[in-house]
Amino acid sequence: MAGKANPFEEMKKMVDKAGKTLGLEQGLIEVLKSPKRELTVNFPVKMDDGKIKVFTGYRVQHNEARGPYKGGIRYHQQVDIDEVRALSSWMTWKTATVDIPYGGAKGGIIANPKTMSVGEIERMTRRYASEISIIIGPEKDIPAPDVNTGGREMAWIMDTYSMMKGYAVPGVITGKPREIGGSLGRPEATSRGLVFCVREAAKKIGMNLKGATVAIQGYGNVGAFAHMLIERDFGAKVIAVSDSQGGIINEKGLKYAEVKAHKEKTGSVKGFPGSKPVSNEAILELKVDVLLPCALENVITKDNAGKIVAKISGEGANGPTTFEADAILYKNGVLVLPDILANAGGVTVSYFEWVQNNYNYYWTEEEVNERLDKKITKAFHEVWDMKEKHKCNMRDAAYLCAVKRVADATKLRGFYP
Ligand code: NAD
Repeated sequence: MAGKANPFEEMKKMVDKAGKTLGLEQGLIEVLKSPKRELTVNFPVKMDDGKIKVFTGYRVQHNEARGPYKGGIRYHQQVDIDEVRALSSWMTWKTATVDIPYGGAKGGIIANPKTMSVGEIERMTRRYASEISIIIGPEKDIPAPDVNTGGREMAWIMDTYSMMKGYAVPGVITGKPREIGGSLGRPEATSRGLVFCVREAAKKIGMNLKGATVAIQGYGNVGAFAHMLIERDFGAKVIAVSDSQGGIINEKGLKYAEVKAHKEKTGSVKGFPGSKPVSNEAILELKVDVLLPCALENVITKDNAGKIVAKISGEGANGPTTFEADAILYKNGVLVLPDILANAGGVTVSYFEWVQNNYNYYWTEEEVNERLDKKITKAFHEVWDMKEKHKCNMRDAAYLCAVKRVADATKLRGFYP
């Protein structure tokens, strides 16, 4: 996943740029760029064939100036420490952009769960949870799902941590199933936040979302729910979608319920009846109104940015656009809704889940969605206003909002000792 650009270096360039514009002293910029704590764990798992395999996992805690660390856990064969560092710092900027009282962290295991049995994934998850339990906790660091993890893994982690404590600790993790303290609305929250941002952006540029054409790269949790919501709630026409095996296109539109059912049956969107194939590269360059990159990082680079003609690019994924590509998109008038704003719906409802766990009082789905709408819409307009003020793109503006908040908190707390 690290691809051509190193995502951690990409993140640092953004913080440097924002820090300079804000007039922060260089030492403080260095603090803001540096992850505070990095834990690497090498741990054994008994595989189904009786053999022992050693896995490597990470938990990187980037910054906690504004509150406890927060960030997901990813299982992927290409996870590496720089990727986890980048993802952890993006969480710091994301929680600050939407102004929720958290810092940023991220975890990952180098593993391809698609080649493992459920039992092997469970044993790996539980052992990793126990290895990182020395630094996580409901007041310290609260993990959540990311690529290739979901409610099932969150439940195992909650259970492992609770077994070690001797009592149930639902607030140690978010993205849990409803039955054990998960929040209503959490599974769709990232996508819901994304379509709220697209809605606000469309209003700003005078685009009618009803009938607007959409292409979605990535058809997992974020991409598939984005399809559902943008079609159902705004009447947009999704004409192309893709997953790791390839993409499909039908100019007349692809219906969410049918594509989802096909993916559930066959394991991929590929081969959907009535569609033509489209590659994962070509899907980004389609003539659509809205592009939603919802897969992995570094897919829009200086090599293909010039070919992107969508009016809005809403980043469901973390880090899909490189630093150099951003400048090209801006010059060409593509309105990029940056990841730290556009996919912050997930962590926002994770925060709501944690609040509900801590209060032991649960909200209705309408309450969750309404509060999410308020948070995301407010953040969108703050970022938009910053963009107007500084005559920059939305990503620079989001970093200006976020870096300022984290810098202010750091300065107020001062430096210990
Ligand atoms: P997921 O594992 O549910 O889905 C990922 C999807 O991307 C799958 O459909 C997979 O087939 C596809 N994919 C993988 N490699 C691809 C490639 N090379 N080209 C095209 N598609 C490819 O993961 P997710 O939770 O949907 O996360 C997707 C992105 O969104 C990640 O960048 C993640 O960090 C980000 N994100 C997720 C959340 C969340 O709440 N799940 C929140 C914020 C950001």
